[in-house]
Amino acid sequence: MSTTRSTAPAFGETPDWGFDPRHPDFGPYWAGCVEERLLVPVCEDGHGFWPPRPHCSHCFRPTARWVETSGHGSLYSWTVIHRTRSPEFAAQVPYAVGMVTLADMSGIRMVGRVEADPAVLIEGLDLAVVFSDLQHGVRLPLWRPRLSVAAERTRP
Ligand SMILES: [Zn+2]
Repeated sequence: MSTTRSTAPAFGETPDWGFDPRHPDFGPYWAGCVEERLLVPVCEDGHGFWPPRPHCSHCFRPTARWVETSGHGSLYSWTVIHRTRSPEFAAQVPYAVGMVTLADMSGIRMVGRVEADPAVLIEGLDLAVVFSDLQHGVRLPLWRPRLSVAAERTRP
């Protein structure tokens, strides 16, 4: 699977987010986020890996395709941010950033914002990805407790 649509901002348009949505290794990932699909690269031998790179971290064969994950995972570890130098996030402190083990992609852990009261976070918490519009056409994946996401989706 590959996606060709790009909403990446032009050079010099993004604030200092600590990542560059124009990085070529991440193109399909960010395009998938725009479509609310969490994609990971897979090599010719079928290993999923993270972060994206031209070659597999297990066998060093080239990235062959991108696959959509279930968007479910469990909280492996986390930290709570109480102060930030990014004005875009200043009004949101305190917030949690966690390492999330993907449920259906063995061994892949992603780092992302966990939208939950930091006091309720526990190791193994069942999470689901949701997507939030950031700026400049970038849609950011976030993680929420899976039960709260299910409740939001069934509301009339
Ligand atoms: Zn491989």
